[in-house]
Amino acid sequence: MLEIFSRFIDLIFENSCVICNESSGQNPICKFCENNFIIRSKASSIKSFEKITVYSWGLYDGRLRDGIISLKAGKKKLANYFSEKLVTFWKTLPEEIRNRNYLVMPIPSHKQRIKERGYCQTTLITSYFTEALELSFANNFVSRKKQTQFMNSLSGINERRENINNAFEIANPVNAKDILVIDDILTSGSTLCEFARTIHKAHPHTNILGLTVAAGDRYN
Ligand SMILES: [Zn+2]
Repeated sequence: MLEIFSRFIDLIFENSCVICNESSGQNPICKFCENNFIIRSKASSIKSFEKITVYSWGLYDGRLRDGIISLKAGKKKLANYFSEKLVTFWKTLPEEIRNRNYLVMPIPSHKQRIKERGYCQTTLITSYFTEALELSFANNFVSRKKQTQFMNSLSGINERRENINNAFEIANPVNAKDILVIDDILTSGSTLCEFARTIHKAHPHTNILGLTVAAGDRYN
């Protein structure tokens, strides 16, 4: 009911941009901020690690960074917004990447963090994403058993690895040849690599692909 009411309010009143506070029409982020997002080129949108290849839509910097921080800080409606960006981005990826029968899952947050925030932003993004593309959404296959520090608060790669080490566990057997895992940002890759490691421990032949809204490095 509240959700319907809030949609109704959105329709009659203009939004103000979550980043700059200027009027943004029916969108949560205004055109000016959106035009300032740095979208990755084809070559710089892909990053390969030992167990996982990750596609990222934008550069985690400037206004896009502010937007993602807002999503984590309570602006729940941005989950739908960023999910739409991911859907559009996904459609630009090569067909041989997209045409697999993926089981799609979010990088899970720890239940304590979900309690504080009131929602898990990656779960929301993944749920909208799978709905739009009619893919199989799998929540609760992998859970976060350890509450980690925010990765972007840690600077060193070893610190990040240590923080995320053994953070995940398989809650239910994963019966899929191909898994697509979605996260909001890719920084050092430690989180997605640890996730892939956890899946591969139990299911060594699973093909795992990652998809994130943004990535931190300017790799190309
Ligand atoms: Zn704005």
